[in-house]
Amino acid sequence: MSEAYPNQRIYEKCKFKCAYCGIDGSKNFTTFWHANFNVDHIKPISKGGADTDENKVLACRACNLYKGSTDCNSIAEATQVVEKKRAQAEAWYNKHVLQI
Ligand SMILES: [Zn+2]
Repeated sequence: MSEAYPNQRIYEKCKFKCAYCGIDGSKNFTTFWHANFNVDHIKPISKGGADTDENKVLACRACNLYKGSTDCNSIAEATQVVEKKRAQAEAWYNKHVLQI
C-alpha cells in the first residue's frame, strides 16, 4: 500500500500523538510544529531492535532526544526513561531558570 507521505502508517497508528508524553499534534498546527515528530524505534536498531511497524512509534523531538538510544523493550519502559530525564531537566529548570 502506498503512502501519501513518509511514515503515514506510523503517524496514523499513533494518531499524531507522542507515544511517550502524549503531546497531541492533531489539534492544531502550532502544536504539531513544536512537537517536531520523529519515528522512534522503541527498541533501538543499534540494540537489536527490528525495523518493523510494531517497533515504531511517533515521538516528539524532546522525548526522542531524551530517550536517545536507551535500550527499551516496551512503550512503558521508554516512557519511564523519558519521564526520569524530564524530571531531571525540570529540577534544573526550577533551580537555574526560575531563580533568575
Ligand atoms: Zn513527547
